Amino acid sequence: MKKLAEVLKDWEAVIGLEVHTELTTLETKMFCNCRLSHDDEPNTNVCPVCLGMPGALPVPNEKAIESIVMAGLATNCQIMRHSMFYRKHYFYPDMAKNFQTTQGPVAFCMHGQLDLEVSGAGAKERPDSTVEKDADGGYVAPIRILRIHMEEDAAKMVHVGGEEGRIGGAAESLIDYNRCGTPLIELVTEPDLRTPEEARLFMEKLRQTFLTLGISDCSLESGSMRCDGNISLRRRGETKFGTKTEMKNINSFKSLHDALEYEICRQAEVLEEGGIVYQETRHWEPSRRRTVVMRVKETADDYRLFPDPDLAPFDLTDEFIDRCRSRIPELPDAKRDRYMADFGLKRADAAQLAGDPTVAAFFEETLAAAGEKNVETVAKVMVNLVPSYDALTPAQVASLSGLLAEDAITFAQAREVLDAVNGTSEDPAAYVDAHGMRQSTDEGALGAIVDEVLARCTDQVQQYRDGNKKVLGFLVGQCMKAAKGSGNPKAFNKMLAEKLEG
Ligand code: ADP
Ligand code: MG
Ligand code: ZN
Repeated sequence: MKKLAEVLKDWEAVIGLEVHTELTTLETKMFCNCRLSHDDEPNTNVCPVCLGMPGALPVPNEKAIESIVMAGLATNCQIMRHSMFYRKHYFYPDMAKNFQTTQGPVAFCMHGQLDLEVSGAGAKERPDSTVEKDADGGYVAPIRILRIHMEEDAAKMVHVGGEEGRIGGAAESLIDYNRCGTPLIELVTEPDLRTPEEARLFMEKLRQTFLTLGISDCSLESGSMRCDGNISLRRRGETKFGTKTEMKNINSFKSLHDALEYEICRQAEVLEEGGIVYQETRHWEPSRRRTVVMRVKETADDYRLFPDPDLAPFDLTDEFIDRCRSRIPELPDAKRDRYMADFGLKRADAAQLAGDPTVAAFFEETLAAAGEKNVETVAKVMVNLVPSYDALTPAQVASLSGLLAEDAITFAQAREVLDAVNGTSEDPAAYVDAHGMRQSTDEGALGAIVDEVLARCTDQVQQYRDGNKKVLGFLVGQCMKAAKGSGNPKAFNKMLAEKLEG
């Protein structure tokens, strides 16, 4: 198979995501008072409503409606004042009622948008000029959201014994109804994503947004956030969409990227050999790095969708929506803009720090510890150094940033210091002093060394004056050597240049 970069030169990938998020932070289920819990004994959090007993009546969870409205507001959706619940019928033991309660054509939230900042290596996946790229090759991709609707999760089934890996071949199927009736929101994007990287970034941004709202623990690993990837190809320049395949239940950001990458390359090969892409559901096998067919969609599913007569239509009031709005904390985009305005950070850096609430909180604590000084250096340290360490404190990062800002150490030394203090309570400044690492920027002491080097290296001085500016590096090296590493290279550089030009 051809590589992704090769394929995307001729073909445009069209990707849409369907993301399910369990509202795990709520106390109770969607339509009954059963406790929401992931790790209780199987079938202990159940009642006539979530077990689908005849005559049991559902009562909607107001907190769940608040959560979905907050999710809609945070993703720039229109909040629909009037909507209702529908019954989606199917027969499978994971839903004892034989229908899932979900929403119809009008969801609580419609027509939103999230803008993605694509930068670095990932931005290179998009070779076309339909987006405006900045000097570093980064770009902003607006991704429209079709809808976010409310539904309920089904029971968890475990198939044991029998032929391994084959559901039909299992000796026994176990059902845990604890999960049945868990409030679930499903977000569907328009087919606006164009690369696996954009799909990965979209999921990441959505996860950070929902985490900030506090509506879910958003764990791809445990399945509280799951996503299906829809993907088709079309020749560059073509406006009609091709036939899509759907990949189910991808459980990590890496899998999402890799599964889409594989599927793009597979479809390109089929199409280039004159074959047809079938509309089918495929399953990603991470260990074998390929997708395999789960089922072929021959006819539309017939769910007999109709309004649920047991649940009255909703009329959300302005007051309710305003209350939801007032509960939304500062979101990643607003935080990014504030960091740019208040601290003069570059957009990409600000976005990186603001994207993850834990990182943002750490950054703000570090700034406070630094007395709001050296903001630029703190940001630079946060973006370039801190991600490699797992046990630094804001006070340590503030102290280290101070050392860098006053040129007491170099960036290379900063790594050495962080390697040493990571996981301890040692202050970087104390460490630097204890190990004689502090570099002098004292003009008098350094000046003497500079004069000595210039007097000694007459050949290089002549070369510099003849226009070979690169020998400056050699001269800085000579000064560093003479100072036995205790002189600051930036200071040497500046003083040498001044003396040579003067
Ligand atoms: P289905 O009825 O098969 O579930 P939908 O129209 O509900 O399909 O769309 C499901 C998801 O697939 C949406 O995220 C949508 O953006 C995406 N999608 C629709 N058509 C295409 C296509 N041709 N290629 C890629 N993605 C698509
Ligand atoms: Mg669908
Ligand atoms: Zn119940």
